[in-house]
Amino acid sequence: MPQANAKLNAFPVFMRVEGEAVAIVGCGEEALAKARLIGQSSAVLRIIAEDAEPDLLAFIAQNNVTRVAASYDASHLEGAVLVFAASGDEALDRRVASDARRLGIPVNAVDRPELCDFFTPALVNRAPVAIAIGTEGAGPVLAQMLRSRIDQMLSPSLGSLAALAASLRGAAEKLLPKGNARRRFWNSFFQGAPAHAIEAGELSRAHDVAVDLLLSNAPISGHIALVGAGPGAEDLLTLRAHRLLMEADVIVHDALVPEAVVAMGRRDAERLPVGKRKGCHTKSQAEINALLVELGREGKRVVRLKSGDPLVFGRAGEEMAALRDAGIAYEVVPGVTAAFAAAADFELPLTLRGVSSSMVFTTGHDLKGNSLPDWARLAISGATVAVYMGRSVAAEVAGRLIEAGLSPDTAVAVVENASLANRRRFHGTLADLPSLEARADLTGPVMTIIGDAVAGANFERSEPLAAHRHESAATAVAEGVEQ
Ligand code: SAH
Repeated sequence: MPQANAKLNAFPVFMRVEGEAVAIVGCGEEALAKARLIGQSSAVLRIIAEDAEPDLLAFIAQNNVTRVAASYDASHLEGAVLVFAASGDEALDRRVASDARRLGIPVNAVDRPELCDFFTPALVNRAPVAIAIGTEGAGPVLAQMLRSRIDQMLSPSLGSLAALAASLRGAAEKLLPKGNARRRFWNSFFQGAPAHAIEAGELSRAHDVAVDLLLSNAPISGHIALVGAGPGAEDLLTLRAHRLLMEADVIVHDALVPEAVVAMGRRDAERLPVGKRKGCHTKSQAEINALLVELGREGKRVVRLKSGDPLVFGRAGEEMAALRDAGIAYEVVPGVTAAFAAAADFELPLTLRGVSSSMVFTTGHDLKGNSLPDWARLAISGATVAVYMGRSVAAEVAGRLIEAGLSPDTAVAVVENASLANRRRFHGTLADLPSLEARADLTGPVMTIIGDAVAGANFERSEPLAAHRHESAATAVAEGVEQ
C-alpha cells in the first residue's frame, strides 16, 4: 500500500515518438545503451558521434539511424523531440543539456540526474503494451529486479493480444453499450477463448472467436461470489479472492473487513458497506439478501466480502438460499477464519497428539436456558473450543463450562485483532475468562480458544488475563457480531 503522503517527483507518461527524431550525443557505451532503449520504439534515432566506438558503429549499421559524424554543435539537436546527453564528458553533457533546454527539448543526461528533465524507465516491452518502471534514483538494481519479475509474469503473446484488442475496439464501441456489457466482453476477450487462441499462436482463429464473442450478444448474467476476506491482514487474502475483487462491479462488505482489503478491489467498483457490528446494523439480513438478488438480476459481478471464512458465523447460508431461490449463480471462496489466525498468532496447536483430536467452532450466544449446549460436552471430552463473538458472554461461557465439569484450570488463549499489527494476546485459565467482559481496552474483535491443547501455545508474547481479573465496570464496546 502506498503511504498516503508519498508523492512521485517524476510522473510517468507515454510520449508519442513514431517517426520523430530522438537525438543522442555520445560515442561510447552510454550512448549505445540509450540507443538500444530508444531503438525499441519507432522513433528515428539521430546519433551525434564524431568518433563512434566499434559497438556503436555496429548498432548504427544494423539499425535505422541517422549518424552525424561531426563534433557536436547545438544545431544537431534541432527538430528532435527528446535529447540524450550521453558523451561521458561532464562539460559536454552540460552544454548539450543547456542547448536542449534553450531549444525547448526535454533532455536526459546519463548519470547526472540534476541535469535531467526526464528519466528513462526500465522497460518491459510487449508492444503495444509497455510497462515502465521508475525508482527515482533508488537504483537500477531494484528497477531491473522488478523488470525481470514482471517480465516473467506476462505471456510473450500479450502484445499480439493487445494488438487484436486495438483492432476490435471500434467495433466493440459500436456494438456494445458502454458499461457492464462492454467490460464483460473485454474480460472474456482477455481471459477467454481469444486469449487462449493467441497463446496457442493461432492468430486468425483468435480473431474469429473474438468476433463471435462480440456478436453473440449473450444476455448479461449476474454472479455473486461469497468471498472470505480472512481475519484482517491483507496478505492473508487468497489469490482467488484477489482476482474476483479485481473483476468486481460491486463489492458488498461487512464492517469487520478492513478498509485496506476492500480497497484492493477494482478501482471503479461500487463499494457498499452493509455494516453488521453489534449495536449498529446498517442493513438487516433480509435487506442484504434482497440487495444481492437485485444486483444479480441487474447482471452485476458482485463480491460479497465477509471477514474470515464466509461459511463460519457469516450467515452465508441465508444468502446462498436467497440466491438459489432467485436462480442467481454464485460461488463460495474460502478465507482464513479468525480461529486459525488466532491460533497462528499464539503458535497454538488446535489439535495436539494425545491431548486433543477434535475442534469446536462455537459462539457463546447459544447459552440460553438451562440445557447445556452440545459443544460443552465436547469440551469436557477434550475438544479444543474456539469461541466467536465471545467477549460479551465470557463469564457465561466460563461459568457454564465449569458447572458442566470442565476444570477451572483449563488453559485459555485470547487474541484481539488476530493477524493484524495491533494484535494483543492474553493467556490464562477458564477461571480468569470472565475478566474479559470488564475490559474496556479491547475494542477490536476477540477470539477465545479454550482447551488442554492451548497449553502447547507460546506464551512469550502474551499478557496474563488474571491481571484484569478483578476489574469491573464494563463498557459496552462494539464487537463484530454476525449471528
Ligand atoms: N466469518 C468470520 C467470523 C465472523 S463472526 C470468520 O470466519 O472469522 C465475528 C467474530 O469473529 C468476532 O466477534 C470475533 O470473535 C471473530 N473475529 C473476526 N476477526 C477476528 C480477528 N481478526 N481477531 C480475533 N477475532 C476475530
